[in-house]
Amino acid sequence: MKAMLLDRCVSFDPSSGTWSDTPLRLADVPLPIPSSEQVRVRTEICGVCHTELDELEGRLPPPHLPAILGHQIVGTVDALGVRAGSLQLGDRVGIAWIHSACGACAYCAGDRENLCPEFAATGLDAPGGYAEYVTAPASFTYPIPPGLESATTAPLLCAGAIGYRSLRLAEVANLDRLGLIGFGASAHLVLQLMRQHFPKIEVFVFARDADQRSFALELGAAWVGTLDETPATLLDAVIDTTPAWGPVLRGLERIKPGGRMIVNAIRKESTDREQLLELDYARHLWKEKQLISVANVTRADVRAFLELAAQCGLGAHVEEFALEDANLALASLRRSGSKGATVLRVLSD
Ligand SMILES: [Zn+2]
Ligand SMILES: [Zn+2]
Repeated sequence: MKAMLLDRCVSFDPSSGTWSDTPLRLADVPLPIPSSEQVRVRTEICGVCHTELDELEGRLPPPHLPAILGHQIVGTVDALGVRAGSLQLGDRVGIAWIHSACGACAYCAGDRENLCPEFAATGLDAPGGYAEYVTAPASFTYPIPPGLESATTAPLLCAGAIGYRSLRLAEVANLDRLGLIGFGASAHLVLQLMRQHFPKIEVFVFARDADQRSFALELGAAWVGTLDETPATLLDAVIDTTPAWGPVLRGLERIKPGGRMIVNAIRKESTDREQLLELDYARHLWKEKQLISVANVTRADVRAFLELAAQCGLGAHVEEFALEDANLALASLRRSGSKGATVLRVLSD
């Protein structure tokens, strides 16, 4: 089968805006064989996530190279292990970031399998969807509701599900004003969900890119601006989806006493300790402000978000690339400023 392989991590030079080498290479690799509890899925669409930049630039290096990235997969079941449950050949399913968890630890038993010490990630610990076929445990796949299109649904499996988890951690039902810092794939889905399911909550969007700010207004943001601008009122909660540390501090300055700052990022690009030291107790945390990171997703998050999406016909705005053009897709994401989500179309019907 065809796959885009990461042979070794590359470095990114911000001054030239280029990588030290082309990250991924098109290759022919053996077709994966599902184990008894797995299914094999013929990939139709695989979303491109900022986490893939963390993987290929070495902030989150895959433990085994060469690696096949990609963890927002929609495709059809193509082969079944003997204990793969009730799935049928031809069923359309999704595969998300959570590839597996142990099922036996206190976190798994307590509905927090995202924190399981044996948490394994799709496209990192196990081969992902930048390939024509991928295997996954049957119990870690999700039927895609019939009304949802594959391309606009793939980003729901990470960007959407982790956005949904962020909203849960923000205790969304208690909010009047929610801030979103960064307006990429996850935030544009969160905003759409807010407009559909919590229309009374005002959403404030902070984004560097002017096109993204006007896109946020189109999707119903109450206010848009850059992080150098300050809305007239403090916010109840802010969700940060940027890859940098500075916006976390700026967000903490913009929440009310008792407010929540939710950081939805697997790694922050800044490793500059000076920046970390800027966290000032009085300014950023005093008066019971909370700073919470979002780690991974649970299957329940993915299922719940797919269900909400099906109820209101929610989908990502997507830019499509061919599998072979994965390097272009990643470069486009690296430049940011794109409207919505980026996906790879792997196989068409
Ligand atoms: Zn992701
Ligand atoms: Zn566990």
